[in-house]
Amino acid sequence: MAAAIKKVGVIGAGQMGNGIAHVAAVAGLDVVLNDISADRLKSGMATIHGNLSRQVSKKAITEEARAKAVGHITLAETLDGLADCDLVIETAVEKEEVKRKIFHDLCAILKPEAIVASDTSSISITRLAAATDRPERFIGIHFMNPVPLMELVELIRGIATDDQTFEAAKGFVARLGKQVAVSEDFPAFIVNRILLPMINEAIYTLYEGVGNVEAIDAAMKLGAHHPMGPLELADFIGLDTCLSIMQVLHEGLADSKYRPCPLLVKYVEAGWLGRKTQRGFYDYRGAKPVPTR
Ligand code: NAD
Repeated sequence: MAAAIKKVGVIGAGQMGNGIAHVAAVAGLDVVLNDISADRLKSGMATIHGNLSRQVSKKAITEEARAKAVGHITLAETLDGLADCDLVIETAVEKEEVKRKIFHDLCAILKPEAIVASDTSSISITRLAAATDRPERFIGIHFMNPVPLMELVELIRGIATDDQTFEAAKGFVARLGKQVAVSEDFPAFIVNRILLPMINEAIYTLYEGVGNVEAIDAAMKLGAHHPMGPLELADFIGLDTCLSIMQVLHEGLADSKYRPCPLLVKYVEAGWLGRKTQRGFYDYRGAKPVPTR
């Protein structure tokens, strides 16, 4: 029997963390949201408030459900606040050394029977599990952005993940009203293995002057019926996250076809990370987005 998950810890209150906290709270679970930055914790909670209110105005949830969800969320400035969670989902930046340090510190205070999960977009679950004291109770739970709207969650077992943990994670995803796709533990799993090389190719198309930002996005929206153009989508995901995923694919699969485009590297070096920093392939500081190339 899989252990019941009643209290969920979320580490990282960025765009993914606040979304995961939001859907778990709406599903009636107690949520403890943590971030290394008190400002990000505050802005993450403000985003949750804004998104819940939008759902009420669109009649997706009732005012009563909104108030209940808010009551389920508490904020924790240190990991100690997560000690009695049944499941902790790490969704901090896509950097392996940051995640390893979090797992090391978390496992020191977390109750032994709790499940630990990562929302990593690309990093090996088996390798991350090895940084914990409980590889059999470690699993990849990979949400899609924006979490409250996207239907899919990828589940990735590491080599040691036991059946109880897998079943508990499946039950948790079902409770959130989302669908599971099971992926083997290979770099970037299923969605990003397919999506990110397409985005990287769009950036090469820009880099080589085949088309400008507007032409490339219009081509894929109108010519392939993608709801967002690939450059718009890259800005939405975060260019630092896109680059990290391409690096994991390039290193993990040792194939030159995954070489990150130098223009993507340049944008990240400039700190132009997309929407979250107000500038990426588009400049978001004005009334409407303006292409930066
Ligand atoms: P983000 O930059 O919006 O947020 C990351 C947050 O982590 C920040 O608030 C930061 O302060 C916090 N953080 C950094 N170090 C920390 C630490 N040691 N302890 C606690 N918090 C810490 O990034 P994001 O887009 O939310 O991505 C987070 C994770 O989710 C990454 O692993 C990413 O690959 C994955 N992911 C992202 C997407 C996407 O589309 N952006 C989709 C699925 C999964």
